[in-house]
Amino acid sequence: MRPVPSILHLDMDAFFASAEQAAKPSLRGKAVVVGGLGPRGVVATASYEARRFGVHSAMPMAQARRLAPNAAYLVPRFGLYRDISEQVMGLLRELSPLVEPLSLDEAFVDLETAGAAWDEASARETGRRLRERIREVTGLTGSVGLASCKMLAKIASEQAKPDGLVLIPAGMERELIAPMPVRTLPGVGPATADHLRRAGIVTVGEIAEAGEDEVVRLLGKAHGIALHAMALAHDERPVVAERDTKSVSVEDTFDVDIHDRVRVRLEVGRLAERCVQRLRAADRSGRTVVLKIRRYDFSTLTRSETLRGPTDDPSVVREAAARLLDGVDTTGGVRLLGVGVSGLADFTQEDLFAQAHVHPDGVVEEELTAEPAGSGPGEEVASGAGAGEEAEAAPRAEPAERIWAAGKDVRHTEFGPGWVQGSGLGRVTVRFETPDSAPGRVRTFRTDDPDLDPAEPLPLVTGGEVAGTEVPGAPTGP
Ligand SMILES: [Mg+2]
Repeated sequence: MRPVPSILHLDMDAFFASAEQAAKPSLRGKAVVVGGLGPRGVVATASYEARRFGVHSAMPMAQARRLAPNAAYLVPRFGLYRDISEQVMGLLRELSPLVEPLSLDEAFVDLETAGAAWDEASARETGRRLRERIREVTGLTGSVGLASCKMLAKIASEQAKPDGLVLIPAGMERELIAPMPVRTLPGVGPATADHLRRAGIVTVGEIAEAGEDEVVRLLGKAHGIALHAMALAHDERPVVAERDTKSVSVEDTFDVDIHDRVRVRLEVGRLAERCVQRLRAADRSGRTVVLKIRRYDFSTLTRSETLRGPTDDPSVVREAAARLLDGVDTTGGVRLLGVGVSGLADFTQEDLFAQAHVHPDGVVEEELTAEPAGSGPGEEVASGAGAGEEAEAAPRAEPAERIWAAGKDVRHTEFGPGWVQGSGLGRVTVRFETPDSAPGRVRTFRTDDPDLDPAEPLPLVTGGEVAGTEVPGAPTGP
């Protein structure tokens, strides 16, 4: 373990919800829930105000609405979140070339190699300045953890939330995590915690004391050894820069779950073809084929197969993806499919990434993203129709006509920019306000009002100097 807490973990606070509050002055200080608003939607992010009602990420939206009936329910605006994410990652790369993004709003940074932390004081100062810069450039807050390894840096940022900084001094690691509940350690879910509790193990320190043999006996070899090492604060994983993640992937979300196995196979074949097209466009080849499936209940799994040598042959990738699909039960229905190829040689073009980031080890990073389903009446609801009908009836994702999803940006020829507060029964309610205005007024229009148009998100901070803050459509500055 390194002698200086020079690994930094940044996690933006309630990222999607905070971005919405920054964009919509009337929602500041209020309960805001961002996620899928359709009948099967889940919460992507809840603001801290909404969390007080017990709403949290991955909760079914219907349950959230019962807990916090007066919260604002909004669809995600991924375009905006990506722009902000780029600003944040840009600030991290100013600190060090070794930045490992984990999702849109979370990343590890190795400060040691960049000389940005040579002792505790300099590490703390770098973290403090970073938080300040993030606030200036994005208008949002992020929490920082600093420690001598990745696991502890992440635990520290969790403790720092919201809007804080926690540094775990080198040499104090074991002592500090010992009293924490076992669930603090990565990979310990409710089932494992329960298992350990029945053996009298409740804290991280008790895992360490139990000894490796005992933990292996309880949890099996792979999990047991890893967990015991973590309890001793042994974590030597390096920070891996994004450009080392070598993969190409494509994915599709379907408006209506696909139940028909033949159709699922067909779609996987199509995705494999598209993936190979991208691969070839980049003049690359890869060895590991990855299949991603999100099922009707939002459970997401990935399967991977590593070939003997690199390939860019569509039939080889297609067949590998088909073999992977054979091992997966899709009877309940499938809402998203993805195919990726990783382990690429000489891969440099980062913009080839689709939404899914497939890591070289075949594990697909899971962004907890509720798909922006349409809201309110008129939405197509997935039926439990027979498999045969389903294949015919399921359309591919296409923009629905004049659906005003709550939270989306609009512009009215007379009243200017605003956002959809709600819609239904042929009416749409719009609140006219912008990130730097006072809380705005609400007006109601017919959904087919010719003066009302969908619009691009406005930047949260005007005049930010990091790439990505340009008004959409404006020329990119130097
Ligand atoms: Mg976060």
